[in-house]
Amino acid sequence: MRIMEKYADENNVPIMEKSGLKFLVNYIKYNNIKSILEIGSAIGYSAINMALAGTDISITTIEKDEVRYLEALKNIKRFNLDKRINLILGDALEIDLEEEYDLIFIDAAKGQYIKYFEKYARNVKKNGTIISDNIYFHGLTEQNERIEKKNLRQLVDKIKKYIVFLKENDEFETEFFRVGDGLAVSKRKDDVNENTDSTK
Ligand code: SAH
Ligand code: MG
Repeated sequence: MRIMEKYADENNVPIMEKSGLKFLVNYIKYNNIKSILEIGSAIGYSAINMALAGTDISITTIEKDEVRYLEALKNIKRFNLDKRINLILGDALEIDLEEEYDLIFIDAAKGQYIKYFEKYARNVKKNGTIISDNIYFHGLTEQNERIEKKNLRQLVDKIKKYIVFLKENDEFETEFFRVGDGLAVSKRKDDVNENTDSTK
């Protein structure tokens, strides 16, 4: 783990913060999550940590940057997790997956979160979850002052739009957690008594 953390630090790879990762791993353990789709593998750090949450967890993870993909491949092999982590090189918005997962973890380009959510919502199992990272974006999404740098301002505006999108979404119920860089936990609202509920 240390080697990956050092690599990330030296190469400016935005891996998850420790507290956020701990929250995620606990969520996986306590909610009996077995299948995970991750969007944005980077060097495999979060995928490896999620896989280590339980011996019967399997993960598919997508990374579009080839250098990071190769680094992730190396790390996954080093942890002997290549049977449980399926790493895909490509743009998540251009890939189609048929499988359904207990959990989808979104941690790729912050400006595209609504797109990932809309594209992959159908890959979430009944009563499954989508967790999104970097919802507070270093505290910037909660700051009211005008951000001077245009690119940064646009990015922050997109994350703010995503927060509104989640709050207004009828299919998923979202809770926001002030942990790590901010995590949103969106649970698919599937009726427990679906069979008896004739109004649905
Ligand atoms: N989840 C990782 C960190 C991911 S950083 C961890 O915590 O260890 C975000 C990554 O998403 C970057 O490596 C970036 O190349 C990748 N990415 C951005 N847009 C993407 C897309 N559309 N499809 C796949 N990967 C993408
Ligand atoms: Mg992140």
